Order: sequence, then structure tokens, then C-alpha cells
Amino acid sequence: MSVISPELLTRFDVSGPRYTSYPTADRFVEAFGEADYIQVLHQRQSCRVGQQPPLSLYVHIPFCESLCYYCACNKIITQHKDRAATYLRYLTKEVILHSQHLGQGQPVSQLHLGGGTPTFMSDEELGQLMAMLRAHFTFVPGGEYSVEVDPRTVDEGRLAVLAALGFNRLSFGVQDFDPAVQKAVHRIQPTEQVFQLIEASRRLGFESVNVDLIYGLPMQTTASFDRTLEQIKRLRPDRIALYAYAHLPDRFKPQRRIHAEDLPSGSTKVAMLARALDALTEAGYVYIGMDHFALPDDPLAVAKRQGRLHRNFQGYSTQADSDLIALGVSSIGRVGATYSQNAKTMDEYVDALDQGRFPVVRGLALSRDDLIRRSVIMALMCQGHLQFESIDLAWMVDFKTSFAKELLLLEDLQAQDLVQLSETGIQVTPTGWFFVRGVAMVFDRYVQADQSRHRFSKII
Ligand code: SF4
Repeated sequence: MSVISPELLTRFDVSGPRYTSYPTADRFVEAFGEADYIQVLHQRQSCRVGQQPPLSLYVHIPFCESLCYYCACNKIITQHKDRAATYLRYLTKEVILHSQHLGQGQPVSQLHLGGGTPTFMSDEELGQLMAMLRAHFTFVPGGEYSVEVDPRTVDEGRLAVLAALGFNRLSFGVQDFDPAVQKAVHRIQPTEQVFQLIEASRRLGFESVNVDLIYGLPMQTTASFDRTLEQIKRLRPDRIALYAYAHLPDRFKPQRRIHAEDLPSGSTKVAMLARALDALTEAGYVYIGMDHFALPDDPLAVAKRQGRLHRNFQGYSTQADSDLIALGVSSIGRVGATYSQNAKTMDEYVDALDQGRFPVVRGLALSRDDLIRRSVIMALMCQGHLQFESIDLAWMVDFKTSFAKELLLLEDLQAQDLVQLSETGIQVTPTGWFFVRGVAMVFDRYVQADQSRHRFSKII
């Protein structure tokens, strides 16, 4: 029997946010700027030692050598490798500004290098980047230090450099092994190459290797995607992220190069997801939630069993809620009760730093209502259940009165076996876990007030 039937996947396929933040980034406002950001950095600095939340760093490297047609990321396609050295100088300026406001040597327990393509940078530049970060922050032993790797840009030697620089987690962008699909999305990477790199990662002692897959790409069929899944099962990465391709050519220009007639139909897409869920769970993977799978002994699966999952801009995490300093063009940070986003264009980013300013261009100071709803949404998204009392005590509210309207909406989802309501709390059912963001959306004040949900990707 299927883990989840195509009928259910179709029935609950509505658009929804991914809740890597709440409120979601489309709610950020330009009224939040540099002065607000500096204020919240000072608030963090004035916390007594030991009372500050842990610190995470995200560094966005926007450059890519060639364009993948499905891309919806903020990136710059260039062959000019020298752009990385200039960018590194600006990242350094941005880090120095942070040290001035936060103090030197703040302990960091999580670092993620994302993009774009972080491995666009040469080994020397990556070494300089890490040395620069270490000169201003203290990386604590046992932290999670991860980097996104484009298999086309590395070999075993480069992976060894990443290990020597202190990275202990790798995430490979694979998407699909089928040559026709790779050609249609303009991303050719031979299967053998990916196998060799992942085997090398194991030899080099990386603690966790993630592989990203995408279903719904042009030229994909259920048969071709089954073959990719077979290969993934042989490869056996520790984690798998399985994303749905959302074709939004009006919003993402590169997608205009994808021919709509090459895309699998909605029902094929649903079949691919249902088969992937079956194949991966049969192969022993634990469905963590929201597109993520992990082997049972991976820290993410252990955290799920123990109710210690968290959620941040990279998806699910084992790390407790931390302040996130985001560096680089377009990156989004979270400090205290605020979110902030850097300038999306390189010109704006560079201009601000040349003037000695943080390149923050928008953000949000969360209201008390936002904070309460964020706790509710994250409890549902991470633990799959919520005790009313925990919110009552933490926020001095009466949950059932404050969320009477939402509880009424949940009755509908209860009738469809997605949640169970009791006198004391909300439990997401095993079926509901596959559509958990639909449950979370009930508590999203903005979504509930907004009819234009088509701005978000489909739930599946
Ligand atoms: S998908 Fe990744 S590697 Fe491809 S263009 Fe976009 S950011 Fe670059």
C-alpha cells in the first residue's frame, strides 16, 4: 500500500508558504532598515553573556558559471572568476561592520554557505573567506558547518579542501540523473561523477551528505524518475531534499527557456511524488516533513523522533532557534524578534558597504501577534502537535479564546483526517503530516486575510 495515495496528494494540492520564517518574506517592509537592524544587534550585544541565543551565519555566494533553466534563486551568471575576489572584499566589510556592533569573537555553532554556487569560488578564495570569518567569529567545536556543492565544479581534491577548511556537511545539487532531463534544464552532470564525489565525501569523513532532487522537471516521466530514485537508493545519501518544480516563467526569467509542453502533467507529477515517497520510505528513509528525508541514524531523524526539530531558512534543523546573521547580496537574517533582508542587486549591496552602511533594505519587526503565531506554526511544522497550555503559559493568553476562529477552521481539516483536536491540543495525523503547511496556514494571519495564494508554490 502507498504511503500516501495520489488522490489525497491531488486533493490537498493548494498553494502555501514553506514557513522557513513567519511572517513570510513577502511581508517584509522597506520601513525596516539599517537603523532598526543596528538597534537589534545592540540589543543582542547587551544581553548578559550566556543569555544570548546561539549564533548562526549564512553566507550567500551569488555567482554561477552557467544557467539552470529551472532556477528561481538570486544568482548572477558569469564566467568572470575575478568577481569572486571583489565580492569577498565586500563580505569582509560586512563582517567588520557586524563585529563593530556585536563585538569580536561571538561564538558561532552553525554556518551555511549557499548560493548561487559557493564552489564558484576558488580554493584560495574559500580559504580566505573562512579565515576572515574565523578572525571575527569563534566557530565552536561540534557545530554544523555546511556548504552547497555543484557537482560540476568540484573534484575529490576540492572536497578535501572543504573538509580541511572545517566544513562537516555537504549538500549536492543533483535534481535528476536522466540525461534528457538534464539537457532540457541545461544542467549536465554525469551520474558516475556524482557517485564518485559522494563516495569521496564519505572517505573524507563528512558527517552528513545531502542530495537535492526535483520532480516536475521537463522531460521527466514516472519511469525516468523511478530510475533516478533507484540510483539515489544505491547512492544512499544521509539526507534527501525532494522539491516540486514550480513553473512560474512570469516571475523567474530563466524558466522561460523551459517549454511548457515538455512538462509532466499535474497527475504525473503527483504520481512521481507518491512513488518517491514509497521508494524512499521502503529504502529505510524517514520522512522528516516538508520535502525532507533522512536515514534513521541521521541527527535530523533522531531529532524528529525526540521532538527536537527546528526550522530555519535552510529548512529543518537540529539546532535550537538561533539568531542568524545573513551575509551577502539578497540574504535574509533573523536577529531577536526581527527579520532583515540585504539588497537584492549587487550595485545596491556594494554602494551601501562603500558608504560604511549595512546593506539592509527591508525587514520586519515582529509584533506580539506575529511572535505568538510563529510559536504555534513552528510547533505544528516541527513537532506535529501543540498543547494549548504551552502557548497559554509562554504568552499569557488563553489559546482557545484567542484562536477560536482558527480552531473552527481546523474542524474542517479534522473532518478530512489531517488533524485531531482535543480539549488540550492539536495533533497532526500521519496523513496530515504530508500536508502540514496547510495546517500551519490556518494560523497565518496574512494568508487568511489574503486571497491571492497563488503567489506561493504548491504544497506538494
Ligand atoms: S539552480 Fe543553482 S547552480 Fe543553477 S543557476 Fe540557479 S543558483 Fe545557479
